[in-house]
Amino acid sequence: MSMTKKKAKTQTKKKAVKQKTKKGMVFEYSEAPESMKVEIAKKYENYIGGKFVAPKSGKYFETTNPGTGEVLTKLALSFKEDVDSAVKAARKAFKGEWSELSASERGKYIYRIARLIQERSRELAILETLDGGKPIKESRDVDLPLVAQHFFYNAGWADKLEYVLPGKEVKPVGVCGQIIPWNFPLLMLAWKIAPALACGNTVVLKPAETTSLTALRFAEICTEAGLPAGVVNIVTGAGETGQALVEHKDIDKIAFTGSTEVGKLIAKTAGITHKKLTMELGGKSANIIFADSALDQAIEGVIAGIYFNQGHVCCAGSRVLVEESIKETFLKKLQKRMKQIRVGNPMDKNTDMGAINSKEQLSKIKEMVKLGQGEGGEFWQVDNDLPRKGNYFSPCYFVDQSASCTISREEVFGPVLSITTFRTPEEAIAKANDTNYGLAAGIWSEKGSKVHKVAAGLRAGVIWANTYNKFDATSPFGGFKESGYGREGGRHGLLPYLEVK
Ligand code: NAP
Ligand code: MG
Repeated sequence: MSMTKKKAKTQTKKKAVKQKTKKGMVFEYSEAPESMKVEIAKKYENYIGGKFVAPKSGKYFETTNPGTGEVLTKLALSFKEDVDSAVKAARKAFKGEWSELSASERGKYIYRIARLIQERSRELAILETLDGGKPIKESRDVDLPLVAQHFFYNAGWADKLEYVLPGKEVKPVGVCGQIIPWNFPLLMLAWKIAPALACGNTVVLKPAETTSLTALRFAEICTEAGLPAGVVNIVTGAGETGQALVEHKDIDKIAFTGSTEVGKLIAKTAGITHKKLTMELGGKSANIIFADSALDQAIEGVIAGIYFNQGHVCCAGSRVLVEESIKETFLKKLQKRMKQIRVGNPMDKNTDMGAINSKEQLSKIKEMVKLGQGEGGEFWQVDNDLPRKGNYFSPCYFVDQSASCTISREEVFGPVLSITTFRTPEEAIAKANDTNYGLAAGIWSEKGSKVHKVAAGLRAGVIWANTYNKFDATSPFGGFKESGYGREGGRHGLLPYLEVK
């Protein structure tokens, strides 16, 4: 048995014990020295006006654990009527209790939510991993701390809004419709709800179909924090539910994170109403490796850039541009490092890459890779012994494909990397900018002047130097070109939630 096979075997060892009860399921997760029981009810309702309410249609849809393929529970399938109830509850809260609060009182609720997230972060991390497939160490050590940080950071702004735009009087926008994707379910919720509340708005949020469970736990937290009814409303469902939110006449703003394709559709629909829009869309970001970089560190940055969260990252460094003179050394080191990535059971604390979020996404990745293999260049994939159940895909790369090939241009949203070479900084800049997107980029060089020169030439919203995929609530995040408009995070993240009077 090869080393990789041996490793893969230990990965499948069960860390979570599941019991079925009358009310649903209980997962007991143990990771020495602690163990934790997480309950999942048989079904979940919408959160409207501070209460859990059944969908008017009486219909529900299943959500599964992508790590095993098992059904976890059923969620409310919401249509126009449910969205309308949620918008009405949000409007009532906006006109009433929420707007009457002093700014510092409003801030206290957001601080309370932040503290409750910290207290329940273990439970939330387990649920995030069970429902979405990301490795438990990422949910626990990356996502949850950031989720809490966004609430703490924005809570601090609630009574300091006069400093967002000094000298200007600002007012909340009103009722905000928020639509989020499945790759960072709770984090995307935090990016949207925390600034909206800090600015005095009320919200109706629609989580992604495959990962709504933690948003509903967040609803429990809102109740526990004593948040006035209707300030936060959560409706679950499919694309149609999101569309109903975009079409609703009494919504003042839509904040969307998701694919460029759906983003364009939303912009068209919302464009004929009074709604304000912010869009965080896709990307095909370049990670540029110069010959004078600390190569081992750069390799870690490439791994973090594309294989973190199974590559389901909008700002993933999915295109590596490596200086031609170090190409062979780079590829040798990269292969060696890729073989060390432990792919498997997301609930195992040693797992580096978990499950692909859905069967649909796995098929999309496989199709794109197959297409790519017919378009030239070389393809290389780690030969892992993957778990038999669940949605898994081994890390891989394409090298030396032309700039017009599918994998060089289109977002795969999976662990698939495209590698090409360059000779001069000017060529690196030109190649990095040769994309419809402009979300992020990485630059690896020990020479500061080169880093600054290249950064100045790149058309991307976020640029990392000698690191990749690092996030912080104080920094604005968002893209150029087809990667969207508006920013989330930092002071800039408050602007879309305010009107200047
Ligand atoms: P998606 O298909 O665009 O879905 C995003 C959200 O929109 C989901 O909640 C989805 O609901 C909903 N939706 C689908 N059709 C809709 C419609 N016609 N009207 C209104 N809402 C609709 O994207 P995804 O596959 O979930 O996420 C992956 C994409 O998100 C990638 O392209 C990635 O780059 C992008 N992303 C960007 C950022 C960023 O900050 N720039 C961050 C994360 C992800 P259902 O789940 O029910 O389909
Ligand atoms: Mg799920």
